[in-house]
Amino acid sequence: MTLKSAQYSLIFHGTGSGGELSMGCSAATLMDAKHNPLLLIDCGPGTVSAFQQQFNQLPAAVFITHGHMDHIADLEILAVRAHLQKVPPIRLYVPLSLIGLLHQRLATYPGLLAEGGLDFWQSFQLLPVTDHFHWAGLTFQLWPTRHHAPGSSFALHVPGLFLYSGDTRPIPEIVHHQLSGQEVVFHDCGVEPNPSHTGLADLAREYQPNWLHRFVLYHYANAEAATLLRQAGYTVAAPKDIFTLPARGA
Ligand SMILES: [Zn+2]
Ligand SMILES: [Zn+2]
Repeated sequence: MTLKSAQYSLIFHGTGSGGELSMGCSAATLMDAKHNPLLLIDCGPGTVSAFQQQFNQLPAAVFITHGHMDHIADLEILAVRAHLQKVPPIRLYVPLSLIGLLHQRLATYPGLLAEGGLDFWQSFQLLPVTDHFHWAGLTFQLWPTRHHAPGSSFALHVPGLFLYSGDTRPIPEIVHHQLSGQEVVFHDCGVEPNPSHTGLADLAREYQPNWLHRFVLYHYANAEAATLLRQAGYTVAAPKDIFTLPARGA
C-alpha cells in the first residue's frame, strides 16, 4: 500500500454513566488505520477486560479525563495484570492537577499484590500533562471542562480529528472557539440534564446547530436512554461501536 491517508477511528468499550452498568463504563480507544490501539481514554470498571477482548493485549497508553471511579477504578486491575503479564510500564497520561487524587484513590492500597513486591506505580510510566502531549505522531490537547470542581475534569482534543468531552456540562466555549470545524465531537449526554452532566435539552440551547450533526453522544443511563436520544435525532454510541475520524493527509 502506498496510500497513506492515516484514517484514524475510535471504538467505544462502554458508553454508560457511572450509576448503571448495562452499557459498561464510558471508555474508548483511538485506533490507527489498521485498527491497532493507540490510546485508551479512561479505565473504569470492566474497561480492561473489554479492551483485552477487543485487542487481545493490554493498552500501551492510557489517558485519564478525571478521577471519578467509573473512569479510573480498573487502573488497579491494569496495574496487576501488567505486572503478571510482564509488559513494559504502561504510559499513563494524567492531567497535572489529578495526580494527587489518583494517587490517593488508587495507589495507597496496602499490599497491592498479596505475594508482595508490587506497588501501583511500578506498572505505569506516569506522564503528567499540563495542556498537551505528543504520542503516536499526534498532538493531544487538553481543555478543562465543567464537571464538579474547576480543573478536575478535562476533554481530550486532537485538532481536525476529534474532541472527547469526558464527563461535563455543555462546553460551548471549547466546541465553538477551540475546534477546527472538522472534528467528531464525542459528548457526554443523558436524557435529563443535571448539575454534573449534559442532558438532551442542553444540546440545542448551548450549541450552534451546525455543530450538532458532528456530535456522537455517550455516557447515558441505559438502552432506553439511548433510544430516546436517537429519537431526538442524534448519533448515539453503543459499546463496540467504531467511528471513523476525518481523513488526514500524512
Ligand atoms: Zn462518568
Ligand atoms: Zn464523572
